[in-house]
Amino acid sequence: MPRNLPEYGKIAIPKEREVPLGAVTPAPVRVQKLHITSPWRIYRPVIDHEKCTRCLNCYIFCPDACWEYNEENDEMELNLEFCKGCLICIQECPAEALTPVHELEFEGGVVRLDNPF
Ligand code: SF4
Ligand code: SF4
Repeated sequence: MPRNLPEYGKIAIPKEREVPLGAVTPAPVRVQKLHITSPWRIYRPVIDHEKCTRCLNCYIFCPDACWEYNEENDEMELNLEFCKGCLICIQECPAEALTPVHELEFEGGVVRLDNPF
C-alpha cells in the first residue's frame, strides 16, 4: 500500500545560492561561495615541493578542484578555502609528496566562513 510522503513545505533558496537542477554547476566548484569549507575539516594536505613531480594527479582527483599548477614558480598550489580534507589527493599522489596534518597544528585552525549558514 503506497504511503503519502511527508510535507515539508516550500524550501526557500536565496538567489545567490541557486544552482540549476541536475548535476551541472555554473562554475568550477572552487569559485562558488556555497562550496567554501565550513569549520569541520580535521586534516589538510601539506605538500613537500621537493618530492612533488608535478604529475597533476592531485589536480585531477580533487573533487573540489583545490589544486592548481603555478607556472611562474613551477609548484602546485592548494586553495585551502575550498579543501574539504577528504585526503583523496594524498591517496592518489604517486610521489608521496602530500601528508595529512591536523588543523590544530595551524594558527587559526580551519577555514571559517564570515557568515556561517
Ligand atoms: S584533501 Fe580532498 S578536498 Fe582537499 S585538496 Fe585533497 S582531494 Fe581536494
Ligand atoms: S599528485 Fe603528488 S606528485 Fe603529483 S602533482 Fe600532486 S603533489 Fe605533486
